[in-house]
Amino acid sequence: MTKITMAGKVLIIGAGGVGSVVAHKCAQVPGVFSGIMLASRTVSKCERIKAEIRKRYGREIDTAKVDANDVAQLVALIKRFNPQLVVNVALPYQDLAIMDACLEAGVNYLDTANYEPPDVAHFEYRWQWAYQEKFRQKGLMAVLGCGFDPGVSNVFCAYSQKHLFDEINYIDILDCNAGNHGHPFATNFNPEINIREVTQVVRYWENGQWIERPPILDPTSVHFSFNYPVVGEKESYLLYHEELESLVRNIRGLKRIRFWMTFSENYLTHLRVLQNVGMTRIDEVEYNGTKVVPIKFLKQLLPDPATLGTNYVGKTVIGNILSGMKDGKSKSVYIYNVCDHEESYKEVGAQAVSYTTGVPAMIGAMLMLNGSWRGSGVFNVEQLDPDPFMDALNKYGLPWKPVDFDSRLPE
Ligand code: NDP
Repeated sequence: MTKITMAGKVLIIGAGGVGSVVAHKCAQVPGVFSGIMLASRTVSKCERIKAEIRKRYGREIDTAKVDANDVAQLVALIKRFNPQLVVNVALPYQDLAIMDACLEAGVNYLDTANYEPPDVAHFEYRWQWAYQEKFRQKGLMAVLGCGFDPGVSNVFCAYSQKHLFDEINYIDILDCNAGNHGHPFATNFNPEINIREVTQVVRYWENGQWIERPPILDPTSVHFSFNYPVVGEKESYLLYHEELESLVRNIRGLKRIRFWMTFSENYLTHLRVLQNVGMTRIDEVEYNGTKVVPIKFLKQLLPDPATLGTNYVGKTVIGNILSGMKDGKSKSVYIYNVCDHEESYKEVGAQAVSYTTGVPAMIGAMLMLNGSWRGSGVFNVEQLDPDPFMDALNKYGLPWKPVDFDSRLPE
């Protein structure tokens, strides 16, 4: 069967660190992305990215100002630009408004982070999975969580399920950033979202149940030293991460799934102090007659993740260790990617955390536009064919490597 390659227009919403990478990577593939619009709350950020893209690739993209909390504004913008797909790389708070606008305007949707209500630091798929019937009825496709983790981490599971195992019993996702940005304290993606995520009670899933463990800042948090490829031993902390919620539904034979992330003592010390003095609070406090949300004020003071790339050195190493059965024998495989901050910066002017999120978002968008990923309804990426995605990772800057894994992980 000949595959028809289709090109189309994409509307990218959010001009932060990730949005810039998505725009750059889409601009590199004109055969698929025939038109690109970057829209965000602060249009000057879109303009700056547009100028960089013109300088790098001699390509023009469109820009627009939009408040992505406002469905009517979004619908008007979508109708004006008329894209086949909206890529949402604004903040998780905007997910539902952008999904509503896509339904109303009749376009497909992709994002990299699940919905989170602004007033509760809690993220889960329930709210977006509830759109299943609406997208199905309209014959539209919504792909959720298509960054690196969630995103590539889910695709690694789908690929392993399809090719490497008859049954996967244990999954450990390990996310290591061994880079140095030269700032005393900074977060690699939106500070507010990042701090809300890492200060939560930790959960992992075993034998059908969610098990809680203390947050990473607690003296009794669960951590161990893992010897990562290329970068060596790093302290890795058990953390709740959103892909666990969909993977427990979609991977056959699963007995346990956990997520680990590396944190330096320096990062934890800063975060502990900020938390202790109340700077990570998400409720309003009154200061001199003005209402202030401390974590939003903190975000203003911290370095913008989109600017961290300038002096960033080192690498990220993110991957999955999967154990299970193949042809009656037990086996364990480690699939991972190594991404270099300086090389990402050279290519698209961004650090590796934005790069490892933006490239998979572009790949997902490409597969939706060219028809490799097709369907009506709401999908997590492990429900879609992993093969074209795995090929594209190698081609578009995130090569992966599978190795036999014979070390031990904590029980
Ligand atoms: P940034 O804070 O750098 O960028 C977010 C952008 O969204 C900003 O340009 C911001 O505008 C814009 N925005 C915020 N609110 C609105 C609004 N109401 N209307 C329009 N635009 C708005 O974040 P990142 O680029 O670091 O992260 C982007 C997304 O990627 C986040 O959802 C994050 O959770 C996700 N992510 C996913 C990862 C994965 O692997 N799956 C990893 C890392 C991040 P303004 O400039 O005005 O503030």
